[in-house]
Amino acid sequence: MKEVTYNGLTFCPYITRDQIQQRIHQIGKQITEEFRGRRPLILCVLNGAFPFASELFLNIDTDAEIAFIRFKSYEGTASTGVVKEVMGLTDDITDRPVVIVEDIVDTGKTIKHLVEHLKQYNPAEVKIATLLFKPESLKTDVQPDYIGFSIPPKFIIGYGLDLDGLARNLQDIYVLKEQAD
Ligand code: IMP
Ligand code: MG
Repeated sequence: MKEVTYNGLTFCPYITRDQIQQRIHQIGKQITEEFRGRRPLILCVLNGAFPFASELFLNIDTDAEIAFIRFKSYEGTASTGVVKEVMGLTDDITDRPVVIVEDIVDTGKTIKHLVEHLKQYNPAEVKIATLLFKPESLKTDVQPDYIGFSIPPKFIIGYGLDLDGLARNLQDIYVLKEQAD
């Protein structure tokens, strides 16, 4: 794996596709066991989580459904963590177990907002699966239930994670070179 450059920033290899797939396989098994027979709704948070959600969904070996939701930070108030729904729920989640699938939990504000938002529909249960988690950046009381990798507060790209919309299609995860070790 080589270094990659986007918008003048250089990134180094950090987590390989093999490592990612192995970890997702384990989480898929865990979700399978915990939700067997309960037909969970796997709720992919667009855009970043779609590669993770896709791989995870294929690793769930019991009846499950998939749906998508998209949120966006309000212009100018991102620091407050105010987010608005730009593509809403199309499925009824009342009395159903829901597993939210996120690419990364950083401050936790996005996921916290989403969990609160879903509660109004009275789901049976809401669990959080995130491919990446930056525990040191967490500023809310949410705790992901399924974590691919816990990482230090470094900027990463690839496997769905972007820099200004780019790099989501990298098969591996890369870290900003100036923050590497
Ligand atoms: P939070 O609300 O602070 O948890 O932020 C979550 C969102 O910030 C994620 O869904 C990403 O879009 C973005 N984000 C946080 N850290 C990174 C990173 O290291 N690389 C790319 N995007 C990130
Ligand atoms: Mg995201």
